[in-house]
Amino acid sequence: MLSGLLLLLRTRGRKAILTIKMRKKTNCLYCGAQLSRKFCEGAVRLFCERCKEPIYENPIPATCLVVDDKKRLLLVKRSVEPKKGLWCLPGGFMELGETPEQAALRELKEETNLTGRIGMLLGVISNHSDRYNTVLMIGYHIKSYTGTPKAGDDASDLAYFDFDDLPEIAFESHKKFIRIYYSAYISDIFL
Ligand SMILES: [Zn+2]
Repeated sequence: MLSGLLLLLRTRGRKAILTIKMRKKTNCLYCGAQLSRKFCEGAVRLFCERCKEPIYENPIPATCLVVDDKKRLLLVKRSVEPKKGLWCLPGGFMELGETPEQAALRELKEETNLTGRIGMLLGVISNHSDRYNTVLMIGYHIKSYTGTPKAGDDASDLAYFDFDDLPEIAFESHKKFIRIYYSAYISDIFL
């Protein structure tokens, strides 16, 4: 069942109302029984009385990528909610069976048409999400890539931006990875 969360946003001085659909688990995935909430193993959790076990909920792992041409940062414009229309790093959710590195390079190919090589892990950040509750964001730097940049999948556009003249970035975790990269690496290694 979907329940709506109304958010009042201010964009460029104008107010806009955006409805974010947040899915809630109401029934057990395994037996179909209605779920209750119960204090179990140190926290209030969803619980299936028929299966007699809690429904564990965990952060969703996702990757994002710092891609630069030494002086400018590659960003993609989101074509889907959440944060549709805002710019962010290329990236997305891991699929089952993938390593984080495979997920990162697949998302890079899907959203930018670039085939890349991972240079380094920038960090791992837990990020609140109105839609997914908590996202575990894994940030990588791409050290080399080939191909002609072309927006695809969840991206409607892409562009290189000067590090000191970036647009509004959609996600806090992406902002942190950009800061980590810029402050810790680019000044010492790449310039
Ligand atoms: Zn059940």
